[in-house]
Amino acid sequence: MNMKEIKYWLKPYGLKLTLPRLKVLEIFLSNNKAVTYAELLRLTEQVFDRVTVYRTLRAFEDLGIIHRIVGINSSVIYALTIISKADKKKPHQQHLHFSCIKCNGVYCLDDQLVPSITLPDIYEVHSLSMMVTGICHICNEKPDLPL
Ligand SMILES: [Zn+2]
Ligand SMILES: [Zn+2]
Repeated sequence: MNMKEIKYWLKPYGLKLTLPRLKVLEIFLSNNKAVTYAELLRLTEQVFDRVTVYRTLRAFEDLGIIHRIVGINSSVIYALTIISKADKKKPHQQHLHFSCIKCNGVYCLDDQLVPSITLPDIYEVHSLSMMVTGICHICNEKPDLPL
């Protein structure tokens, strides 16, 4: 998804594209994987304060533009929510995530949906997350270089 598509997609939300919003979107678009909150703060610290970044992320999350992932070490990670071009009306579905043990990259497995679960009524479910760990497609292609 490029910036033009993002702008087109944001239009119905009535969201004004302020500089922090554009910058944060740019970071997401230039990464093909999820971005940690720490990384987002590091990439924006020269330009915006933490509160601005936090508010921007909250606004995007509320609108369903990004979604939050809890990493294997409880780190907070954000990923762009991909809405298929063919079906823009299709709501975002909870999917599995892949965490690479080599590069620590986290990827959305958009077509691997979180299976539905049935719990007794006494439980109030707030969220369900599933993380797959292993070696990602990029690390898998690189042979280990001898030191
Ligand atoms: Zn990797
Ligand atoms: Zn995801």
